[in-house]
Amino acid sequence: MKQKQYIHQEITFHLMVEYSPNALILVNEESKIVYVNLYAEKLFKYPKTELIGRGVEILIPERLREKHPGLVKMFFSSPTSRAMGVGRDLYAVKKDGTEFPVEIGLNPLVTIEGTLVLAAIIDISERKIKDAALKKQLELESKNQELEQFAYIASHDLREPLRTINNYIQVIEEDCTEILNDTSRNYFYSINQAIRRMEVLIGALLEYSRLGKDFLFSPVDLNVLLENVKADLASSIHTNQVRIHIGTMPVLNVNEIKIRQLFQNLLSNAIKFRKKNSIPQILILAEKQDTRWKFSIKDNGIGIEEKHFTRIFQIFQRLNTSEEYEGNGIGLANCKKIVELHNGEIWVESTPGEGSVFCFTIATQ
Ligand code: ADP
Repeated sequence: MKQKQYIHQEITFHLMVEYSPNALILVNEESKIVYVNLYAEKLFKYPKTELIGRGVEILIPERLREKHPGLVKMFFSSPTSRAMGVGRDLYAVKKDGTEFPVEIGLNPLVTIEGTLVLAAIIDISERKIKDAALKKQLELESKNQELEQFAYIASHDLREPLRTINNYIQVIEEDCTEILNDTSRNYFYSINQAIRRMEVLIGALLEYSRLGKDFLFSPVDLNVLLENVKADLASSIHTNQVRIHIGTMPVLNVNEIKIRQLFQNLLSNAIKFRKKNSIPQILILAEKQDTRWKFSIKDNGIGIEEKHFTRIFQIFQRLNTSEEYEGNGIGLANCKKIVELHNGEIWVESTPGEGSVFCFTIATQ
């Protein structure tokens, strides 16, 4: 009876190890593999038969193999349960030569065949990718914060002297009304226009520098959001007879106000930069890609030369004069910032004279 119970326990234990969701490898004192479970076969892409009896170094990248026998010896000289290579980056290699980062736990097992070491191996590739992305994001955030601070102080401090100039110009203009001729009146008109324009630019710069603040995410139905954006632009859509087709949109965890601003900027640009004498046609689509959603806003407008594809996303960069198309060159810089705050990317594909496609992504994780 006891014997049967013992055999039953043995089988259960064997199955637990064999089907464990971690790669388990048993190695003897000569560094030879004596057992691998199913997960280890899958992870290293070797059939068991090709691993059993082989030196465990086969699973270590060649550049790191040299030191390993010494480390094995050291482990067997005072075997304790511990993590391998604390403070070092560990890598393993698959049968096809692919290297990947790992974490390894070592446990000594005393058996009648001598001491063995059970190595539990975890593939940490995904964690490493996430850590690297997080690091990049933190660096970007700190760089952005510095820039924002600079833009905020600069724009805030520029307002005051501009107000003073504006006040004195008005006083001079009023005091001198009687002695002004047409030419000097024109000069005053130009000065006032320049002051208005500078006020708008400073306001836009202040808004840009405040974009990253108060950033809350919530689930937003982008189908509804785009209908609202369309409604806001209804008059321009109607006047220019714009044809807009919007595909099915997802519900995403985003900052509603900023994503609305993003679509509004891209859609109004698609209308603004239309070709003369042709009906503007705009297509807005969404497509799921792994851990992100890709959105595209396609127009049949004037298009953009390839050499400007990066520049247009920088603040105050415009390709056309204000007389041709009104604007202040801050819309796409805002779009870029909003997309980056959603861990995404923005870019443009375009053919001059045929149209442009503005694409951006939003990370879902
Ligand atoms: P603004 O629209 O105020 O000029 P933006 O930052 O929105 O500023 O755009 C920067 C420049 O990129 C625009 O001046 C224009 O030359 C170009 N651009 C943006 N969107 C389009 C588009 N859909 N088609 C063609 N050119 C575009």
